[in-house]
Amino acid sequence: MADTLTPVLTDSWGSERSWTLAAYEAQGGYGALKKALAMPQDDIIAAVKDSGLRGRGGAGFPTGMKWSFIPQDNPKPKYLVVNADESEPGTCKDIPLMMATPHTLVEGVIISSFAIRAHTAFIYIRGEVLHVIRRVQAAVAEAYAAGHLGKDIHGSGYDLDVVVHAGAGAYICGEETALLEGLEGRRGQPRLRPPFPAVAGLYASPTVINNVESIASVPSIIEHGATWFASMGTEKSKGYGIFSLSGHITRPGQYEAPLGITLRELIDLAGGIRAGHELKFWTPGGSSTPLLTAEHLDVPLDFEGVGAAGSMLGTRALQIFDETTCVVRAVLRWTEFYKHESCGKCTPCREGTWWLVQTLAALERGQGSEADLELLLDQCDNILGRSFCALADGAVSPIASSIKYFRDDYLAHLTHGGCPVDPAAATVFA
Ligand code: NAD
Repeated sequence: MADTLTPVLTDSWGSERSWTLAAYEAQGGYGALKKALAMPQDDIIAAVKDSGLRGRGGAGFPTGMKWSFIPQDNPKPKYLVVNADESEPGTCKDIPLMMATPHTLVEGVIISSFAIRAHTAFIYIRGEVLHVIRRVQAAVAEAYAAGHLGKDIHGSGYDLDVVVHAGAGAYICGEETALLEGLEGRRGQPRLRPPFPAVAGLYASPTVINNVESIASVPSIIEHGATWFASMGTEKSKGYGIFSLSGHITRPGQYEAPLGITLRELIDLAGGIRAGHELKFWTPGGSSTPLLTAEHLDVPLDFEGVGAAGSMLGTRALQIFDETTCVVRAVLRWTEFYKHESCGKCTPCREGTWWLVQTLAALERGQGSEADLELLLDQCDNILGRSFCALADGAVSPIASSIKYFRDDYLAHLTHGGCPVDPAAATVFA
């Protein structure tokens, strides 16, 4: 079991002007690119496959396998699209990465595009974070000026253009096919899969879509080798990842560690739950992953371990809530978010999230009866697995799990005629 931090991606965060090309190159940056350009492209794909890197955007799909799905006999252009539309409540790792070391991402984009034979790559960043968009644009401009991008990169004969695209601030555009719709200039709504983007993605061409952290992990895999990466983590969840601790924790922030570390270990590293309080519940990977409790402190934070505990690793957004939190109100707050962000394309999500809010809000006000808990679970059942994309599945996750672990808290609202948590001591979710 892991017991130490392994800073790779976060190694130079906080160092002097870490976002500049000069600082990045002073630490050996773009060395992996030069190495990769001298490698056969299939060897790069094989290295990423052998490393065991799994998608860091939440789903954990093997990255190298995704790349190998790109049909090289298809005469259409191939595209790489970086999903930098980080928006899952609690998820806050890609934005600091792009702010601190945007060149790690840019170098990863070039190596990955070269591997899949793409000559145009897009970095799709959520529209609200103008400062991040500007920082990545500046890094791309520096990379062009230094000859890392453009025509005949470092005399290799390989050409690549990178476009930084600003989204318009819709959570659904983090869903990969809605993102493609947005990139093509249409309203962001998901497409039916299959076909998966690897076969028919941007402009109906073969497209690899990867999360920021996945692509930023590629240069170090090329530099140090697949075996080095695979030596960290667990049997089926290799390597390290950024764990984002937020909420009622002494030192919230980003903790980079091997997959398989536990929340107990991370809480220790972060100085413990805030003084005088105790853990009540937490999310392993943002609000769309089922809640866990203090009984899950020793669950290995890898795809398999969290799955076996009845949740999902997701984006490793560990939101920590102590006993001052009203779980019903927290879950209502998230459900309102999903209702607001539903794109409206499919009925289970559009109508279902509206009904979830109605039922939950009444329970939170102490109205209704215990039968409404069954009604709420029935609504969850009618949504789960029946919507067009994962948004609605995510919306029901905190509801069903909160009823599983905190049924008494719901009942207390009914007997008390509203929230029983002392308002003076409560953590308020406005
Ligand atoms: P998914 O499992 O359906 O797909 C994951 C990736 O694998 C996709 O790129 C998909 O194209 C590819 N893939 C899957 N099967 C394939 C096949 N047979 N052939 C080719 N490619 C294939 O997951 P998803 O719906 O894309 O994403 C759900 C995840 O998103 C959740 O786990 C959640 O944690 C995460 N999420 C992240 C954020 C964020 O801000 N980072 C926000 C919301 C949700």
